[in-house]
Amino acid sequence: MTNRAIGIMGGTFDPVHYGHLVTAESVRAHYGLQEVVFVPTGMPPHKSPEQVSQAEHRYLMTVLATATNPAFSVSRSEIDRPGPSFTADTVREVRQSRGPLDEIVFITGADAVRQLPSWSRLDEIFQHCEVVAASRPGYPFAEFEQEIALLPRPLRRRIHFLEVPALAISSSDIRHRVAEGMPIRYLVPEAVQIYIDKMGLYRKVPAAANRRGDLS
Ligand code: NAP
Repeated sequence: MTNRAIGIMGGTFDPVHYGHLVTAESVRAHYGLQEVVFVPTGMPPHKSPEQVSQAEHRYLMTVLATATNPAFSVSRSEIDRPGPSFTADTVREVRQSRGPLDEIVFITGADAVRQLPSWSRLDEIFQHCEVVAASRPGYPFAEFEQEIALLPRPLRRRIHFLEVPALAISSSDIRHRVAEGMPIRYLVPEAVQIYIDKMGLYRKVPAAANRRGDLS
């Protein structure tokens, strides 16, 4: 990897957890990235609005989680852009705003990457970046490979698979634990835990209100 390189960490981050932070830091170290910009999705194209928490909550939790790492930052790009969040728009924006970067590495979960054949404007994404597919331990790599095989070889060669043991932590498990009143300490940074508690996120009863309502 060349001297000037930046990571874009794409995800819903509902909520962000230590698995995401360890992934970003591992990829940063492995590829010698100067920085990793976390980009919470505004409106994921493959999900309905009721399925995800308010973008502002997800953004603020990501800011809290990344605050102590000088190489990490958070972008509002997808949150502020109206309409569905397409990765092609995001990487193009980063490329335009950062100037002639040597390399962009788009990092996200392997389950999202295996859906790549159905994403829009793939050529544009791969024109701008390499893709890292981060997976949980025991991930069915054969299935991943099968789906990725639908992509043309030159694009496939720009996809890198990375197993991250810390991704045993998952956002869905955290949401489930909060709903069931189970502890999430040591799964998310303390500030995120306090934010979830303060805003009543993921609780069984007010969950519906939080998915649609205000931050207040
Ligand atoms: P998702 O379906 O919520 O997540 C799929 C899996 O990947 C989950 O197991 C998830 O675990 C994991 N994951 C997600 N982001 C991760 C990350 N940064 N690092 C490690 N694991 C991660 O996927 P999503 O979050 O909605 O989408 C992922 C990215 O793909 C986003 O940037 C999204 O905008 C992009 N995307 C683009 C298009 C398009 O342009 N057409 C379509 C789909 C997705 P956790 O739940 O624990 O995070």
